[in-house]
Amino acid sequence: MTRVFNFSAGPSQLPTEVLQKCAAELMEYGISGQSVMEMSHRSSSFLEIIETTERRLRSLLQIPESYQVLFLQGGASLQFTMVPMNLLKPGGKAGVIHTGAWTKKAIAECRKIGGCEILASSEAEHFTEILKGVTTPQDLDYVHICENNTIYGTKYKELPECGNVPLVADCSSCILSEPMEISRYGLIFAGAQKNMGIAGLTVVIVREDLIQERPEIPSMLSYAVQAKNKSMFNTPPTFAIYLLGLVLEWVENRYHDLAALKTHNQQKAALLYNQIDQSRLFTNPVRPEDRSIMNVPFVTGDAALDAKFIAAAEAEGLVNLKGHRSVGGMRASIYNAMPLEGVQKLVDLMRRFEEENRI
Ligand code: PLP
Repeated sequence: MTRVFNFSAGPSQLPTEVLQKCAAELMEYGISGQSVMEMSHRSSSFLEIIETTERRLRSLLQIPESYQVLFLQGGASLQFTMVPMNLLKPGGKAGVIHTGAWTKKAIAECRKIGGCEILASSEAEHFTEILKGVTTPQDLDYVHICENNTIYGTKYKELPECGNVPLVADCSSCILSEPMEISRYGLIFAGAQKNMGIAGLTVVIVREDLIQERPEIPSMLSYAVQAKNKSMFNTPPTFAIYLLGLVLEWVENRYHDLAALKTHNQQKAALLYNQIDQSRLFTNPVRPEDRSIMNVPFVTGDAALDAKFIAAAEAEGLVNLKGHRSVGGMRASIYNAMPLEGVQKLVDLMRRFEEENRI
């Protein structure tokens, strides 16, 4: 079997070694006589899996003791509801820096719960840049950002200064791609299906003082209830947690730490951006200093030519390069599991395609 290079924005490619280990353990995990999929979440085997997974995540991201790690469900999208439900004080207000489709959704859901102010928006620039120097009113309950904008390919290189207001970051498409200074955040959330494994698991990292007992909040939506029950108020997404554990083990074995992984990710991104920047056919509209190293959109400016390129790529085993429907063109998502070889193949094709389709 020949595996393709999968440039999907998510769910996305997994490391081959992770899939191989998962396959080897699929019928029987250890000497348990059963698959992880069949295990009770209360069994000692699974408790060891969840504890090891949390330990690995804490070690790689250097999460301070004063933060809780929660393994939840409902995708990153449910956090657009849980965050305001838990963090907005009665009559309080959130601030959002609007950088695209995912903050738009966060704003809409927040407004169903309480107050929400748009502190700044890059909509007029078609979300091709990250807004800097945004001032944070100090009466806000929190400031929400989307740290890496999956659709537009923009990324915060420096976090906004929020003073004493907690910063909440949607890190769905950048978590584990580089080191993070966790203490700068009040809360981080991310769906697992890009850099952390498979769909069905959402990781929340939250500063303990923001976890408030609020009896009026439905139990499943309460950080306090989830934290008190160590993410086991109900059956957690056991297989997805196990898979996150395998991904973290892979990162440790291959890169040792996130600084080394970042260097590798930067190399891949530079290869692709350099090709785009020297091209007379392909362009990337994002302000260079705001470019994401995970999601790289590019266009030819001609929809028919874009479609021809996507078909040519598919024929070479480079799949899921179609850009988001709101942007068009192409988008290469080059998460941790995408090897340099995959990006090199893409760049080689871009070069050849440009020669054959010279304008
Ligand atoms: N936030 C960002 C930045 C995303 O890229 C996505 C999905 O692609 C989401 C939120 C929504 O995630 P989910 O499908 O897990 O709800």
